[in-house]
Amino acid sequence: MGKKTYKVVKSKVTEGLHDMESRKGRFRAFDAIRPAMLKMVPNYPELSNRLRKIKEYSIDHLDEVIAKAQRSLEGKGCKVYLAETPADAQRYIANLIPNQGLVVKSKSNAGKEINISHYLEDRGVTVVETDLGDRINQLAKCEASHSLAPAIHIPIERITKLFSEEAGTTLECTPEALVVAARKGLRDFLVKADVGISGANAIAADTGSVFVTENEGNIRAVSMMPKVHIVIAGVEKIVPSLEDALQVVRAAAVYGVGQDIGTYVSVISGVSESLDPDLEEYSHGQGPKEVHIVLLKNGRKGAIDAGYKESLYCINCGSCLNFCPVYSEVGGKYGYKYLGGRGLVFAAFHGDLEKSEENGLSLCIGCQKCQTACPVQMATPGMLWKLRQDAVAKEGIGWKKNLIFSMLTEPQTLPAVSKLARTFGKLALKESDKGMTSRLTLNSLGLPQERVIPKFSGKSFVEIAKPKTLAKPIKKVGFYPGCVVNYAESDLGEALLHVLGENNVEVKLAKEDVCCGIPSIVSGDLAHAKTMALKNIEMYSAFDMDALVFVCPSCAVAFKEEYPKLFAGDSPELQEKVKKLALKVKDINEFLSQDIELKLPEHGVQEKVTYHDPCHLARSMGVKKEPREIIQKIPGVDYVEMTDADACCGFGGSFSLSFYELSQRINEGKLKNVADTQATTLATSCPGCMVHFRDGIAQHKMKQTVSHVVQILSRAYGRR
Ligand code: SF4
Ligand code: SF4
Repeated sequence: MGKKTYKVVKSKVTEGLHDMESRKGRFRAFDAIRPAMLKMVPNYPELSNRLRKIKEYSIDHLDEVIAKAQRSLEGKGCKVYLAETPADAQRYIANLIPNQGLVVKSKSNAGKEINISHYLEDRGVTVVETDLGDRINQLAKCEASHSLAPAIHIPIERITKLFSEEAGTTLECTPEALVVAARKGLRDFLVKADVGISGANAIAADTGSVFVTENEGNIRAVSMMPKVHIVIAGVEKIVPSLEDALQVVRAAAVYGVGQDIGTYVSVISGVSESLDPDLEEYSHGQGPKEVHIVLLKNGRKGAIDAGYKESLYCINCGSCLNFCPVYSEVGGKYGYKYLGGRGLVFAAFHGDLEKSEENGLSLCIGCQKCQTACPVQMATPGMLWKLRQDAVAKEGIGWKKNLIFSMLTEPQTLPAVSKLARTFGKLALKESDKGMTSRLTLNSLGLPQERVIPKFSGKSFVEIAKPKTLAKPIKKVGFYPGCVVNYAESDLGEALLHVLGENNVEVKLAKEDVCCGIPSIVSGDLAHAKTMALKNIEMYSAFDMDALVFVCPSCAVAFKEEYPKLFAGDSPELQEKVKKLALKVKDINEFLSQDIELKLPEHGVQEKVTYHDPCHLARSMGVKKEPREIIQKIPGVDYVEMTDADACCGFGGSFSLSFYELSQRINEGKLKNVADTQATTLATSCPGCMVHFRDGIAQHKMKQTVSHVVQILSRAYGRR
């Protein structure tokens, strides 16, 4: 990402962070939707896997399902138009609308994708949004801020003023009065409209049926009342059968809003066949005489070819947004047309990588909350990382990152830099009661003066550590400390040696390891990542060990998941070596719980402890119960679970340097949950989270001690 793009992103983030009215509205929606969704999902245990299979099949056989849907729809009297580009779709639609015509439109993501409202308005057509939230935005001349609750950022007083102006009378400032006024206002437009435009949740190829689900009833009116109805949908909305389409509709309700099913589910299967002329006089509800289905391609085939086919599984339920920490804080500033991280993937495959970058490609923290909340388990973070690779291939990595990543590939560089930082750091840093802080505000380095950072060790952990050789160890492990332990959190490394020693496990260290490469991988710089990975693979493959243990889950994920991907195209020998090493990888909590019988500490600690799940450990490695079990086995521990323990802490490595204010804001929410537990110790299993929490705790004048699980265990074994 170039300097100019960074500035654009940064200013959007600042704008998003300071729009407190929108934030209030978003969190009001989250507070209602999140618990409802989490309660509803377990009622449908098979839904997600089933839906993923349906979407997989549909996208793998896209040409086939498009052709089948086209035949079925045309057989029912619909006209089908396959639009290669937004411009094709716009022209086709505009030709269906009379001059100065009136269009009533319901929420349609594909409509937004092709900018249809503005296109038609520029040509003299009046377009009236009928979704309540979208109508409010239209009157207020605002952009939608949430896919399901698009006007949550507008206070009710302002809505009352807007609707009062439209109605020409002073309305009561209550939701009920405003809904009545909105309905009344819209009814006139619906009766007079020439054309209705909607989107589609799914299109069943076998029966040629368009499914639309909603909670307001406006889509039903839009599709029934005008004589002409236009459906705009991406080709990925087509699924093989009616039963499959029902699964999509079900999932949209369960995951999107935590309902069993949407209040209204409309199925449009062809044109109206009513011939009753009398009905014409009384009702506009006979259904349209003309139905046009505009199927949008707009880069979707290219996305499949470029390795992004999974993005086409999206059913637009919005669940990912409700759990994304970045979207939670900056709202509509994250995403392009389609909100959130997935919107940036769509933007790129619609042909605009630049738009994707300008709208937050670098903002994804990689927490994977979107993926676990998604009914099709869409791997959004992985696709965003891949897009970053595309951006690096196009524009390079930039001199700053290039320099840093080059240094990280050499085992000698970091110790030298650490010594320099320790010596000269004294000039730039000062020690206060809170910890180390910068003497100067270095915003470009993510170092405002108030930020508390760890002390640099003069020597790396592997230089000072003295692992013991044991006479008869029950296991032998290698330990990969990672950069944070090596240069800032050496006590954590010492605690690990102590805990494993107490359990008669022998530990071997590599004297010359290098960074695991995760910072390069997430930045899209695979060349440096491969150099680092190769050095680590050579070094640790030579170890005689039962397991390779980690206290940092991000490093563990690099060895376990990313290295095999990095070398997938290399020689079979190397691939085999990488695979063998990956199988040895264990987070320390896993190792202590599964590979040995953990010695129970005699004395224990007198601490009230709560636990934060690091994203990589909880979601990539699936380790959640082990750390909790270990903590609760320690005598004297009073364990209390915090709310949303697996929500991201906001660290994200270089993310917290590039977007410090945002990372702190995400951290604030976590710390509030920590404070609510009244715990004295905040435990976690990631040194990066620890560093970030210590800073947040200092900023908020809290008193908690932050410890890795092995540090608590080590204290319980008597190490002070
Ligand atoms: S990985 Fe996290 S930050 Fe990135 S899009 Fe998903 S939820 Fe948002
Ligand atoms: S990515 Fe998944 S969770 Fe997000 S809108 Fe699409 S289907 Fe829903």
